[in-house]
Amino acid sequence: YTFDNFQIDKDIIENLKLCGYTEPTPIQKQAVPIMLEGKQLLACAPTGSGKTAAFLVPIIQQLKGPQKQGFRAVILCPTRELAKQTQRECVKLSEGRNFRIHIISKIKRALEQYGPNSNNKYDILITTPKRLCFLLDQEPPAICLNKVEWIVVDEADKLFEEGNRGFRAQLDQIMKACHNNNLKVAMFSATCTPVVSKWCVRKMKSLIRVTV
Ligand code: AMP
Repeated sequence: YTFDNFQIDKDIIENLKLCGYTEPTPIQKQAVPIMLEGKQLLACAPTGSGKTAAFLVPIIQQLKGPQKQGFRAVILCPTRELAKQTQRECVKLSEGRNFRIHIISKIKRALEQYGPNSNNKYDILITTPKRLCFLLDQEPPAICLNKVEWIVVDEADKLFEEGNRGFRAQLDQIMKACHNNNLKVAMFSATCTPVVSKWCVRKMKSLIRVTV
């Protein structure tokens, strides 16, 4: 089983090889085809299993190239550090496609950068939920999410954990702001805790579960 088995463009395969990856990891073998079909999933895969590329590859494939419409994919991470790592991997895997991949930084400039009238149209947003919700809380909201097709929740167990009870409300707020009835969620979690599973069963229609 090689990357050539995935229904993805040659340039992405080339980028995977440039990263030094020779064959897909077990989570990539399972998750990539499911997301390429546009199906939602709950993937239980520990850190180090190659989960980041597992969700980035299908997203890069589906978004094709820059469209200057606004964010089409949102990746939620528990920490800014993880967001930066994910951005680095996304840049490498989408090399040559000229996507505009963004991490929310200067909150003061947010409205002009990502508001509904901004000319600066990005493709992929990688952020902590807290920062994103801060922008959504502005009056009027300082970020426009109405082109979003995919939401990825990375390290969902951390985001949902006891000390972060607010995440359920944050995720609801983010999903609502997308105004998309066909919005797809991909949930990645090191351990599929009852809280994570419960949320998925309640909120995601036709959910596929994969575990490695
Ligand atoms: P992650 O689970 O996303 O944190 O990935 C763990 C590490 O595995 C990262 O350093 C990746 O660069 C690496 N990695 C991801 N996919 C592959 C692959 N198919 N083959 C070898 N290494 C990989």
